[in-house]
Amino acid sequence: MKWIQLNSPKLDSVSRETICILPLGATEQHGPHLPLATDQLIADGMAERLDEACGGKLLVMPGLPATCSEHHMAFPGSLTLDHDTFARVVTQLIHSAARHGFRRFFLLNAHGGNMAIGGVIAEQLSTSLPDAEVVFGTWFRMAGERLRHLGEGDYPAVGHACEFDTSLLLALRPELVDVAAIADDGIAPTSPLLRFDLLSGGPTVRSLPFEQITTNGVWGKPSKASADKGRAILDITIPLIADILAAHWPSAPGMDGKSTNVPTSNGALSPSPRRAHA
Ligand SMILES: [Zn+2]
Repeated sequence: MKWIQLNSPKLDSVSRETICILPLGATEQHGPHLPLATDQLIADGMAERLDEACGGKLLVMPGLPATCSEHHMAFPGSLTLDHDTFARVVTQLIHSAARHGFRRFFLLNAHGGNMAIGGVIAEQLSTSLPDAEVVFGTWFRMAGERLRHLGEGDYPAVGHACEFDTSLLLALRPELVDVAAIADDGIAPTSPLLRFDLLSGGPTVRSLPFEQITTNGVWGKPSKASADKGRAILDITIPLIADILAAHWPSAPGMDGKSTNVPTSNGALSPSPRRAHA
């Protein structure tokens, strides 16, 4: 179910045990070949498929027009909120839904720039809404190593406007991909900056403006992308996220029969339904 497509009485008839999904993407440059909405299209596309996988029994909230993209502002078209503003907007959206009685929230993230503050938001909401349960998860980190075998480029499978981003757009919205403009990043694979990717993350955190990493806005090998690979990413990631939801909220609508056997390694969320960040 999509929150904004229901009318008020229909929304009021939805069980308050329902899991509300807030898809978090970005509006920012994605190289010369992908649209500015790439991360939002991935977040929305995954939320829609997740709802389908759960029998249409999730409540998908509207996404945000911009999130945390300061590191892409040197490239035309990027829009950004600072961390404080983003946290306040997300917090007030969740508080609004909680005022209507909902208490199970999953923040489904598709953008690296939202990851650090996303964890903080989930922690803060556990204090400001003690009767609610708020879980934050990023698709490429939740699915993590289960996706690694799909990567063909030598580095990184998930960077930016990369092999995986481009494959997902080719599967979700192929009409928005300018295939003729696809160009790899040209960064030497020996660079110590690039000995990790976003599937598993690096040993430390250092935020660099993207113009210091790449000249064309790409980090990775979109030349290795395909629609089949995008569908394979979705086929692995969507059931995994459904299992994570079932592990947190086994009694929620749409969770019947789903596995609660979710791995806790590699950033996947603990099945503990409360205080999962401990
Ligand atoms: Zn992004």
